[in-house]
Amino acid sequence: MKKMMAANWKMHKTRAEAQESAATLIASLAAMPADREVVIFAPYTVLADCAKEFEGKDGFSLGGQNVYSEDHGAFTGEISPAMLRDAGCTHVLTGHSERRALFHESSEAIGKKTAFALQQGLKVTLCIGETLEERETGKLESVLGEQLAKGLAAVDDAVSENDLSIAYEPVWAIGTGKVAGPAEILATHAIVRTLLVKRFPKQGKAIRILYGGSVKPENTPEIIGLDNVDGVLVGGASLDAASMRRIVLA
Ligand code: PEP
Repeated sequence: MKKMMAANWKMHKTRAEAQESAATLIASLAAMPADREVVIFAPYTVLADCAKEFEGKDGFSLGGQNVYSEDHGAFTGEISPAMLRDAGCTHVLTGHSERRALFHESSEAIGKKTAFALQQGLKVTLCIGETLEERETGKLESVLGEQLAKGLAAVDDAVSENDLSIAYEPVWAIGTGKVAGPAEILATHAIVRTLLVKRFPKQGKAIRILYGGSVKPENTPEIIGLDNVDGVLVGGASLDAASMRRIVLA
């Protein structure tokens, strides 16, 4: 399976800026390696503009940064899988640590949206990760276990490895410049792999596990070469197309 090189633009870029970034990135990756694919998780307001740029471009996909677990109704401020698809998305993130910490999304709510988005035909990247305090007090495995168990509870046992991926993002490494070291990434991705195989005995080995947390062009080659690292999820360093290009080609 291809390595998934994903960008999380968070709450950045106007429509014009996003269109320009998407166009520049696509043009600069005209010769994308066959073992790479790019997914941009963009703000809702720029999705339709980016979708125009991405149309017919092999290896480039568009995703939302969040989604709700209902199809339509009185849910002010929320957005449904069908709306994301209508705006040109094939992918969506669930459970990003900023959603968990700043907007108090529970693992149960994240599980509901993960299952619903998959049912509705979106490919989902479920984000998990521990805080520094949790790691330092020996809770790493139980935190990741809980986030995965609840996040995947309602997902079809036969979900395809093409449709579900996990992003392991230690909270202490997001936007801080602190990257988990290779030994920490190796060990933690091995834990996530074991949990995935337990949950999905047939396809758990093939479900991609992305690393995220202060990924930059300089550290991507080492990270992407580690066992059980099947891609990266990049925040800050993805905002500049030239920097994202170097990450994709690393
Ligand atoms: C993220 O937002 O998913 C992320 C990993 O951010 P950064 O790369 O800026 O740490």
